[in-house]
Amino acid sequence: MVVEFRRALLDAAPTLARDLPWIAHTDPWAVLVSEFMLQQTQTSRVVAPWTAFLTTFPTPASCAAAPLSSVLRAWAGLGFHRRAKFLHETAIALTRDFGGAVPTTVAELRQLPGVGAYTANAVASFAFARPVAVLDTNVGRVLARALANERLTPKRAQELADELLGTADSRTFNQAMLDLGAQFCTSRPACATCPVARQCRWHRDGGEDPAVLSGGVSKKQSTFAGSDRQVRGQMLAVLRAGPANWSTLVSNAGSDDEVRVRKIVASLVADGLVEQRRATWHLVGDLAR
Ligand code: SF4
Repeated sequence: MVVEFRRALLDAAPTLARDLPWIAHTDPWAVLVSEFMLQQTQTSRVVAPWTAFLTTFPTPASCAAAPLSSVLRAWAGLGFHRRAKFLHETAIALTRDFGGAVPTTVAELRQLPGVGAYTANAVASFAFARPVAVLDTNVGRVLARALANERLTPKRAQELADELLGTADSRTFNQAMLDLGAQFCTSRPACATCPVARQCRWHRDGGEDPAVLSGGVSKKQSTFAGSDRQVRGQMLAVLRAGPANWSTLVSNAGSDDEVRVRKIVASLVADGLVEQRRATWHLVGDLAR
């Protein structure tokens, strides 16, 4: 089953390929930035910010030399802003500890701020062709359905991904798995047109969808509208334009609940994204300019 599925997947790889600017990009920094941005953000929303970010910060050193506030400005539209802080810290670590280059091994990549197992494997594979399999929510669905037809633990899902990779070229294999999961094996799978349907266990044997709650498959994100995440984004949007006082923050929060807004601003301060000086709030880094 594993061998047949791998062969069918690799045969289908050219037709599965999506037109995304970071695919086949050879600059490890560009690959690393794409992987930070793709954590928790839809692919289509990443293309424009990724291109703009690399124009502003073409190297780790250029990002490391900038204040965090500049990185947060370049992060506009992506949400989950702690990733911007981690990316900035990673750029500093690369400049300080790795001569301004992205390290090539998974072990070294895992030491960088904000780099978990998925990001480390993805950078090692896509930037350096290391023989490691990536496991994200798209890949997790494919593994649970097509290979196992059962719910997997995270450990078992990674083992299965590694087994499926075998000796195949990891760039081609990983990209094909991500493309399959993003375009066919979605939460509502398009099995009727899927190019590997004949090699898929779930398609053949049926049953409950094994991808639900399986290892590597993310839970559905909570609704954005009205959420604290939305208010955090609005607060940061105000502060990207410059310092703001409390009444400006509250009037832009989209919430009349001042206690709630105070808590959300406190969380931005605790996350190291925002700081207060006297009666004014700033993005971290703006005060140093
Ligand atoms: S046949 Fe359906 S369940 Fe199987 S891999 Fe394709 S899309 Fe996923």
